Amino acid sequence: MGVIDGCDGDCRPRVGVYALTSCYGCQLKLATVNKIMEIADTVSFESFYMLSSASKMPADVDVAFVEGSVSTEKDLEELFEIRKHSRILVALGACSVNGGVQSWSEGEMNHDQLHAIVYGEEKIGMKGLQATPISKHVEVDYYLPGCPPEEDEIMYFISAFLFGTFPEPKDYPVCAECRLAGNPCILIERGEPCLGPVTTAGCKARCITFNVPCIGCRGPVPHNTAWFDSLAMTFKEKGISEELVRHRFRIFGAHNPDLEPMLDKIYKGGK
Ligand code: SF4
Ligand code: SF4
Ligand code: SF4
Repeated sequence: MGVIDGCDGDCRPRVGVYALTSCYGCQLKLATVNKIMEIADTVSFESFYMLSSASKMPADVDVAFVEGSVSTEKDLEELFEIRKHSRILVALGACSVNGGVQSWSEGEMNHDQLHAIVYGEEKIGMKGLQATPISKHVEVDYYLPGCPPEEDEIMYFISAFLFGTFPEPKDYPVCAECRLAGNPCILIERGEPCLGPVTTAGCKARCITFNVPCIGCRGPVPHNTAWFDSLAMTFKEKGISEELVRHRFRIFGAHNPDLEPMLDKIYKGGK
């Protein structure tokens, strides 16, 4: 987008940062990136409640970053308004991109069943909905995955918009970054159910670096570039069942339409 054509006065790109149902971790990450003060000089934050109580909802902006899933009727109303008032809309973080942990029950339990388990007969002051990613309701221009997204990716997205170009998605798996980080492979060496081979890179294999298997918070790797054949062999050899992989991927990706085809490819040799 760059400088706005024909603008008078303040020609900085206008940015909005909004939260639907979420833990606010993504916007906290955005608010605390090292260069936030420099960014704040370069763009005009028209709406970012974590930074300024003078924020408006919605504001007319060039780029809107939307955190959180649609989990209430109010979320849905706000999302439609945000879309109407934004030239570019970015889904910010796992909740917004794939529905996040609050949507794990998709296809297993509906909203009313969940409500009954958590609140019993109690009423709450809002109309809840089954949690869904924002792309189920509005057109999304770009996806910035992660729980929360990484600082360098946030900077990459903002820089791309400032230069008038667009951010390209990553199309390779966490394994690539894991090998670069010099980690031992905990899938091969210890038989841990690591989802790195089928998860989109970008986190520099953060969890594996702390000796914890990847649970796929960044969502399935796109473009069918996952190494399904070798993965199938390794998972089966290590006794990692289809059910376990499904269960783990559903923590963040229950809504992802690529999940079942991916499992078919791993366990049934599908194309
Ligand atoms: S993606 Fe993670 S950090 Fe961001 S709002 Fe959702 S739970 Fe919080
Ligand atoms: S399977 Fe996991 S531990 Fe092994 S290389 Fe891939 S990301 Fe790293
Ligand atoms: S290693 Fe996996 S679970 Fe951990 S941050 Fe990266 S994508 Fe998310």
